[in-house]
Amino acid sequence: MHQILMSVQKPARYTGGEYNQVVKDLNNVEQRIALCFPDTYEIGMSNLGMRILYGVFNERPDIWCERVFAPWRDMEQQMREHGLPLFALESGDPIREFDVIAFSLGYEMAYTTVLDMIDLAGLPVRVGDRTDEMPLICAGGTVCYNPEPMTDFIDLFFIGEGEEVDLEVFDLYRKCRRAGMTKAAFLKLAAGIPGVYVPSLYHVSYDAAGAISAISEEDGAPAVVRKRIVRDFDRSYFPVRTIVPSTEIVHDRVVLELFRGCIRGCRFCQAGYVYRPVRAKKPETLTRQGIAALEGSGYEEITLSSLSTSDYKGLFPLCDGLLDWCEPNHVSLSLPSLRADNFSVDLMKRVQKVRKSGLTFAPEAGTQRLRDVINKNVKEEDLLNSCRIAFEGGWNTLKLYFMLGLPTETDEDVIAIAELAEKVLSTWKQCAAQKNRGLRLTVSTSLFVPKPHTPFQWEGQITSEEYLRRVSLLKSSLRSRAIVYNWHEAETSLIEAVLARGDRRVGRVIESAWRAGGGLDSWSEYFSLDRWLSAMEEEGLDPRFYANREIPEGQILPWNMITAGVTADYLLKERHAAHEGVVTPDCRKKCTDCGIRHSYREVRCDE
Ligand code: SF4
Repeated sequence: MHQILMSVQKPARYTGGEYNQVVKDLNNVEQRIALCFPDTYEIGMSNLGMRILYGVFNERPDIWCERVFAPWRDMEQQMREHGLPLFALESGDPIREFDVIAFSLGYEMAYTTVLDMIDLAGLPVRVGDRTDEMPLICAGGTVCYNPEPMTDFIDLFFIGEGEEVDLEVFDLYRKCRRAGMTKAAFLKLAAGIPGVYVPSLYHVSYDAAGAISAISEEDGAPAVVRKRIVRDFDRSYFPVRTIVPSTEIVHDRVVLELFRGCIRGCRFCQAGYVYRPVRAKKPETLTRQGIAALEGSGYEEITLSSLSTSDYKGLFPLCDGLLDWCEPNHVSLSLPSLRADNFSVDLMKRVQKVRKSGLTFAPEAGTQRLRDVINKNVKEEDLLNSCRIAFEGGWNTLKLYFMLGLPTETDEDVIAIAELAEKVLSTWKQCAAQKNRGLRLTVSTSLFVPKPHTPFQWEGQITSEEYLRRVSLLKSSLRSRAIVYNWHEAETSLIEAVLARGDRRVGRVIESAWRAGGGLDSWSEYFSLDRWLSAMEEEGLDPRFYANREIPEGQILPWNMITAGVTADYLLKERHAAHEGVVTPDCRKKCTDCGIRHSYREVRCDE
């Protein structure tokens, strides 16, 4: 190991031993969990979900949960050459000796990396090829709301928030193993736990056109698996003893999660739908937890995280409470995810006290018409007003995010993005406090990907060629040289759409792409569109069927056996409203009865 580490980039990714890591005496531990993140150390260690689950599992004295990340290619090659199997950071033990391997799956492009990690652990990638003596392999995370593309490889999926359901499953697994039961017998029992999806208990058939004709379940498995949620979020676990990485990571700071869910209902946003209802922590709870985490880690930065931070009702008292401690201790406070409509002078002043980082707004679309279609209730005057306040306050770096290819988008909508950016530039010229430094204005676009459990789940993605045409149109419409335009490549968005709306047959494609050298596909240096297209061709599947086709409204969707609590009728109603350009008020203004209140009666959803 020592020799290998001398020859790879960033060896600290693989050594463990960081401040606040959890090490236990194996004599006192009954179950070992390998918590795996299918991406590099820098990305995985920046993930708040990983830190929460690591803490929740390790709070139990009988469980030892360790971290596992995907090695970079140089390390993987060395490990394979030296016959060193994938190991956990805390103990250095091979994860194939653990009881449970649990993957955190946050994005589709990580699928091939999951296969790579299972293989590197020395285990067969397919469920059917693994024996009862091998670890149980499970997965949870946002993409598991359509688990179907990964059902060939994963024994069991957690649907919803892991703090709630995972330990129940682990406890049952331990009991079943102690009683000498087979994995199959355990899985049948586990399927009875709310929020657990066991794919081997469901059967899918297809019609001649390739669409799903039926999904059936066996052995008492539920026809529909409903997500689990943390009901009392204020009292939920927060990792105060946060691990301090010994090498640089992407988000190297204390992260405070203000609330789960979102009141807004942007029609393209999967997180906004699957994390409903909104559940918030009290400002005093967050202030206490934030200060404790800063004191316990020595971090010099704290950030506030949520889907829409400025919607947090207690934002001012929270910022004041944190700043009272942060300022004298020279700790900086940052606020990402600000909406352009309620960005206020007061808020600006509070952030300004410590540090001026760049600002990012995401109007998503250039015209009011299209913003109404997607239910992004941000008006142009709100955006320009927020910009004015920012420029007067001395900010001179601004990023604007948009999507191209949204349903009903026309060339007029594309050109309007350029016009809006020019208006932002004129606003800066009129009122910037520091004109001598110039404005750094960046416009970024990405290609719309239709996501399951959203009102746009039926919409087709525009083709890559059409996306590039719209990129060129926007590029030529942006006349000022002061505006920098970045666009996200279409290739990854196409494959993301295939995987997001994929059915069980797509599992074969993932395996073929991985066998052909795939892995770390979320990294542009390793992603290969040709490899994915060849894999699809090999398996006789057409990417257009999954990505570009508009799915007829009555058709069975691959993820029909999973619900996030929002009814299919509501999603359909929202889709129709989108096509009529009708906006839906946010949950604080009016409940439009999406189904959540009925599914989780004891939870208020307008906090
Ligand atoms: S039930 Fe009403 S308030 Fe709750 S999330 Fe749905 S629409 Fe919003």
